[in-house]
Amino acid sequence: MRRLRRTKVVATLGPASSERSVIASLFAAGADVFRINMSHTSHERMRELVAAIRSVEAEHDRPIGILVDLQGPKLRIGRFAENPATLVKGSSFALDADPTPGDATRVELPHPEIFSAVEPGHTLLLDDGKIRLVATAVKDKRIVTRIEVGGKLSDRKGVSLPETTIPFSALEDKDRSDLEAALDTGIDWVALSFIQRPEDIAEAKKITRGRASVMAKIEKPQAVHRLAEIMDIADSLMVARGDLGVEMPLEKVPGVQKQMTRSGRRAGKPVVVATQMLESMITSPVPTRAEVSDVSTAIFEGADAIMLSAESAAGQYPVEAVATMNRIAEEVERDPLYRTIIDAQRSEPEATGADAIAAAARQIAETLELSAVICWTSSGATALRVSRERPKSPVVAISPNVATCRRLALSWGVHSILAEDARDLDDMVNRACRLASRDAFAQLGQRVIIVAGVPLGTPGATNMLRIAFVRDQESVVSNQ
Ligand code: PEP
Repeated sequence: MRRLRRTKVVATLGPASSERSVIASLFAAGADVFRINMSHTSHERMRELVAAIRSVEAEHDRPIGILVDLQGPKLRIGRFAENPATLVKGSSFALDADPTPGDATRVELPHPEIFSAVEPGHTLLLDDGKIRLVATAVKDKRIVTRIEVGGKLSDRKGVSLPETTIPFSALEDKDRSDLEAALDTGIDWVALSFIQRPEDIAEAKKITRGRASVMAKIEKPQAVHRLAEIMDIADSLMVARGDLGVEMPLEKVPGVQKQMTRSGRRAGKPVVVATQMLESMITSPVPTRAEVSDVSTAIFEGADAIMLSAESAAGQYPVEAVATMNRIAEEVERDPLYRTIIDAQRSEPEATGADAIAAAARQIAETLELSAVICWTSSGATALRVSRERPKSPVVAISPNVATCRRLALSWGVHSILAEDARDLDDMVNRACRLASRDAFAQLGQRVIIVAGVPLGTPGATNMLRIAFVRDQESVVSNQ
């Protein structure tokens, strides 16, 4: 099975899509990676979902990526005596450490670390930004605020502090326990929510120790300000537009998305564009024109992947939503302007053997109109550098490592194949041609380019390019 597009599709699983049969339909419709949101999923349910995905993977013999999204330090207020309370514009409202149920003048904020971080003048956004407060005084575990935008406020609503760097880690006790359970279950990617600084990623990497790749969800202005440092450490980024649009003015989010898709491409790290991409398809079998345009914009920007949240997790049309993304991506990538835009954003290769070889492979493939760029890759690093080049020819990654194949499911244009390591150079060339031909990336008589590191199996030693004719699947191929 091969996809006819390069941009990948991530589908979030939830009540509408937890049955194996629905997961199989989502995969058939185009989902390359499944996301499990630990804000709403127990360990037991997560294990069941992983087992169902792996069974679909085995049935189709195609590597599927699994992304576990940790809840992170979501801040919430306490409870009210009369729920909801009504906050009146211009009045004063306090957040304090007192667990007594609140009223229209105060409520508990059960996060002691915030009291020492907030300063007068900082904004506090409640209930997804519907209520806006500005701190006027902070003293003895009590923040006094002025209500700038009022309204009804109910128990346990979320609190965002766009101007305050809070001295907490991105991993709460629940996240650590969810992360251990996910790693034990054998997932591929872990997404960290509400990170503020590169140290948050470093902390998670100390726990994952290579057992899963780490995705930084960029949803706080503090993380946007330190994007370059975060990207140095993280394995991929998510433009988490939901919370980003609460913590920053909404009109700034498209610019941040562009900044992130460009920097991710330059760094050769996958970028996922997420949230409300086909929101209306939660209840409608067809998207709005604006949604189709939004999905297309992310694809034209060269995003590695586009993501569905509630559309596939809790909507009435999960399979239709995936099929819609699939169709939009196929169509955008056929548009002649797509290639022009993608080529214009290419940056110079870095001064490494892998980058020089990746750039040369793309150029040779384009000059000779080769059918595919095939990478033999152990860690996936070579395939990532080739994907960064965004070649016109499809990228096929062959790896003996199933974890590598699954992680590459997120990367632009990479079709990965699990296969035993090659015995020698001839075996490598022969099998590359045979596997590319089997998966319909090259036909008899066509040529491919093969990228590898010799001696074979040496990680990080990408140093070889070979052009090969696909002759006959049963016999040895001729090399050129
Ligand atoms: C987001 O905020 O856009 C996001 C993807 O995070 P979550 O769905 O976990 O809120």
